[in-house]
Formats: sequence, structure tokens, C-alpha cells
Amino acid sequence: MGILQNVKNAVRQRSIHVAYVDVGSCNGCDIEILACLAPRYDIEQYGIYVHNNPREADILLVIGAYTPGWADRLLPLWEKIPDPKVAIAIGNCPISGCLFARPGTLIHPPVAAHIPISAEVPGCPPRPTEILQAVLALAPEVFRDYEVRVL
Ligand code: SF4
Repeated sequence: MGILQNVKNAVRQRSIHVAYVDVGSCNGCDIEILACLAPRYDIEQYGIYVHNNPREADILLVIGAYTPGWADRLLPLWEKIPDPKVAIAIGNCPISGCLFARPGTLIHPPVAAHIPISAEVPGCPPRPTEILQAVLALAPEVFRDYEVRVL
């Protein structure tokens, strides 16, 4: 293992990088994720960074009911995230379709049928504390394969 890989592993042991994708939401869950970044919850103080670069992500948050436009886009996005990785379904939409799950609508929940989902946070929308709790609960899954050595 090279020095750069060691540095990368050490950094990953101390921070969690989260990307999120909206596959058809009403933006309610979106706002709760943004609230996690605001001063009240300030998740960066825990070493959790939210951005939208899947190649640097450890955890993918999925919000929204799965709409047809995502049929050939979500799985490739998931595959861009390096291992180890986990995905969390945020809100009722990716779990059941929520209020969009009506006859005649073109949605295809659950998201777990399209990519591997490790945890679900139900609610319409869930609270920021519940989202934060799920991210922290899955952090050991992300870090389990990393060996950190003193350089
Ligand atoms: S779970 Fe509720 S708040 Fe979240 S995107 Fe769906 S309808 Fe909106």
C-alpha cells in the first residue's frame, strides 16, 4: 500500500463524505438534508461533508419516488461510488412512493429494487436528527475495510 493510499485511508477514517440524489421528490426531504448543513445541526462539525461528487462519496442519500427518468441513471451513478459504500433511502418516497404512489403514475418504488439500500429513514419528511443518526449508524460499514498505519 502506497503512502498516498495511506493518507487517503487516514482521512477517510476521520470524515464521512455524503452525496445525495433526488430521483423525484417534492423537495421536502431535500430541505431537511439542507437543514442538516445549517448552523442548528451543522453536520460538518462531526466530520460529515455533503457534496455531489459520487466519485468521492462514502454514503449516498436517495430521496424521492423513483421516476422513469432515472431508469438508466441511478445504477450508473451508484457504480461510480468507490467501495466500501452504502446507500440510505431518505423519506417515505424511496421506500413506498408515498403520496405519489397512485394508480396511473409512472413511479417505480422501492428504490431498493434498483440499487442496494442499507438503511431506510421513514417520514414525510424525516427530521434532520433522524437523517444524521442514520449516517452516523452506517459510518462503521464504510470504514470497516480501511487499515490506517502511522506513516
Ligand atoms: S417523503 Fe414526503 S417530504 Fe419527502 S419527498 Fe416524498 S412527499 Fe416529499
